[in-house]
Amino acid sequence: MTDTPIQHHETRSDICEYGRGLLEDDLTTGTGGNLSARLDENHIAISPSGIPYEEIEPEDVPVVDMDGTVVSGDIDPSTELPMHLAVYRERPEVGGVVHTHSPYATTFASLGEPIPASHYLLSFTGSEVPVTEYRTHATAELGEAAVDALGESYNATLLRNHGVLTADDTLDDAYTVAQMVEYCARIHYQARAIGEPEILPDDEIDRLSDKLDSYGQ
Ligand code: 13P
Ligand code: ZN
Repeated sequence: MTDTPIQHHETRSDICEYGRGLLEDDLTTGTGGNLSARLDENHIAISPSGIPYEEIEPEDVPVVDMDGTVVSGDIDPSTELPMHLAVYRERPEVGGVVHTHSPYATTFASLGEPIPASHYLLSFTGSEVPVTEYRTHATAELGEAAVDALGESYNATLLRNHGVLTADDTLDDAYTVAQMVEYCARIHYQARAIGEPEILPDDEIDRLSDKLDSYGQ
């Protein structure tokens, strides 16, 4: 990806837009959650810390290098910067990272229970949504736990007693995964409330992943 100011502006605008989406789609409350996108191999744009999503303008979105130094913007980056950077370092194909506190998925995070594939759309994330070890928010240790749980191929993990982290090729894709995780968590919760949902086997998840790759126009 070429590192140009125009692309920076577009990506920083995307961070604002998807940030407002987190509230509209009930994926977080207040200033909870954060999101970032890779600009080039040495820089990411990440949401600022503790500012209501409705008020964030593209100029407020910090641009940060891979060492965590802010190179553009006057406002502090998200306190979860170490976790976002850990994912970009460990997974070179990842172009966008989203962290939410979405309620149904976070219910499973608080139970320490992975979300299994009781709905076919879970295949957006892998065979399940795994759970990290508990680590304090906004620490490098939480980043390590998240990277461990994501491994080489999961697109989402539950942050124990905290929320959700998703990572995918683009910010748009990572946002879609965050929506899918919450939807599947809700269906699983509801199914468990009145019965015992059947879990799709791994070979079906593999087939579904291939189909989803070619879905759309
Ligand atoms: P920030 O406002 O610093 O991004 O923190 C929100 C959050 O969700 C911490 O885990
Ligand atoms: Zn959080």
